[in-house]
Amino acid sequence: MGDPHPNPPQATAPSVTAPKLRAHALSRSFGRGTRALAALGPVDLDIAPGEFTCIVGPSGCGKSTLLRIAAGLLRPTAGELSIRTASPRPAAMIFQDYGIHDWKTVLANVRFGLDIQRVPRREADARARDWLVRLGLADFAGAYPAELSGGMRQRVAIARALAVEPEILLMDEPFAALDAQLRTIMQDELLDLTQTTRTTTLFITHSLEEAIVLGDRVLVMSARPGRIIAEHRPPFARPRTGDIRSTPEFTA
Ligand code: ADP
Ligand code: MG
Repeated sequence: MGDPHPNPPQATAPSVTAPKLRAHALSRSFGRGTRALAALGPVDLDIAPGEFTCIVGPSGCGKSTLLRIAAGLLRPTAGELSIRTASPRPAAMIFQDYGIHDWKTVLANVRFGLDIQRVPRREADARARDWLVRLGLADFAGAYPAELSGGMRQRVAIARALAVEPEILLMDEPFAALDAQLRTIMQDELLDLTQTTRTTTLFITHSLEEAIVLGDRVLVMSARPGRIIAEHRPPFARPRTGDIRSTPEFTA
């Protein structure tokens, strides 16, 4: 990954456009008083529109806590995080365990966010079916998640997240449960989709290899309480594109 950053790392984009996501002195602890546990931060972070940012860090360092704050599911203890929205479009989050609804059909799962946005039924159906086609799930609109493979369930979760055309896609180790081959396929699909839709993406992983494959930049967090301690951008010192798959150290 090259030399350690020579200067104190600034996780800010060198962009003149306003960031899509900005965190300032963001921190979070759990519990109170002497039993309080510092879980995250302080973190400063800017993500430019369209940028694919990966955050990598050890287990328990606060990655999910950061993402949950970004998704509005958790309040920070101090500091702030804002997502600049051009419209009332939501942020969309994909959890490691996919979070899809087993009691709903595939189509109803993908339509879910559109229903919440009160998109008229016929339009919501059409948009959801569109995403099913894009993700190779057209024949499974009426199926239930239990009938699908892990990779297909993952694609349902991605279709559901992208169907709402989110301002920013927040992904928390979404491919951790997939086998290596399927993970590679999903990584390719995700890159293709986020590039064509120009979706700003914050992708959490504990795998440096995955972060390097996916990221326009890779931010490294320290152990709990997680702070951003390094920032890397391409060209990464390690191989990056298709040769990664034929390189023994990456095929484990
Ligand atoms: P990561 O996703 O990097 O593995 P998390 O953000 O899930 O880490 O957790 C960071 C730390 O905060 C861990 O020590 C975890 O046990 C703690 N933590 C997370 N959520 C809660 C919670 N709701 N209550 C108490 N502690 C929590
Ligand atoms: Mg986590």
